[in-house]
Amino acid sequence: MITLALPKGRIFEETLPLIRAASIEVLEDPNTSRKLILPTSRPDVQVVLVRATDVPTYVAQGGADLGVVGLDTLIEHSAESGGMDLYQPVDLKIAKCRLSVAVRADFDYAGVVKQGSRLRVATKYTHAAREFFAAKGVHVDLIKLYGSMELAPLTGLADAIVDLVSTGNTLKANQLVEVEHIMDISSRLVVNPASLKIKRVALQPILQAIRDAVA
Ligand code: AMP
Repeated sequence: MITLALPKGRIFEETLPLIRAASIEVLEDPNTSRKLILPTSRPDVQVVLVRATDVPTYVAQGGADLGVVGLDTLIEHSAESGGMDLYQPVDLKIAKCRLSVAVRADFDYAGVVKQGSRLRVATKYTHAAREFFAAKGVHVDLIKLYGSMELAPLTGLADAIVDLVSTGNTLKANQLVEVEHIMDISSRLVVNPASLKIKRVALQPILQAIRDAVA
């Protein structure tokens, strides 16, 4: 059996056409089914629904053979695990967005950076944020949050946030402006290294079909 770990939502929806190229059709809709293990049109392939942040753990520790995860989540996982526990064969070029720094429109970000003052930064992406500001030579106090980062500068919890931006509508709706583009983000197919050896015969054609579908 080949087990594919997927988070619900945008990544799930955008992965479907890619796995269809390997003749894998998910047979139940995760929005209406309460099942966490979904059968597919291939009796040798199943999908497990996990939280986006749990995908690297499932795949690295063998709870799934492969999975789809955003580069943002992967960077945080790799910083904690050392980064050697996952094989990353394909940039799927889906769920594209960017990791950015945003502040309140009335906050003088350039001034703070120029003066070398400390910046309070709220984010879920503490590793990526620490690395970015360290490279820039900006001293930061990082505040780890798990959701609604946009609220932090509005309530005075932080001066700035590091968050994913797609259309920019969420920032705009909360009177925040993007002041730095840290990196472009897309989702990656990750594979358990042991599965790649042990299940190579079954996995290779799936990986190749997905690679071809992306290209
Ligand atoms: P937007 O308003 O389109 O700029 O989207 C921003 C909101 O959606 C923020 O709360 C982000 O954390 C979230 N978001 C945007 N793109 C992604 C993505 N590719 N994966 C996960 N969350 C995202």
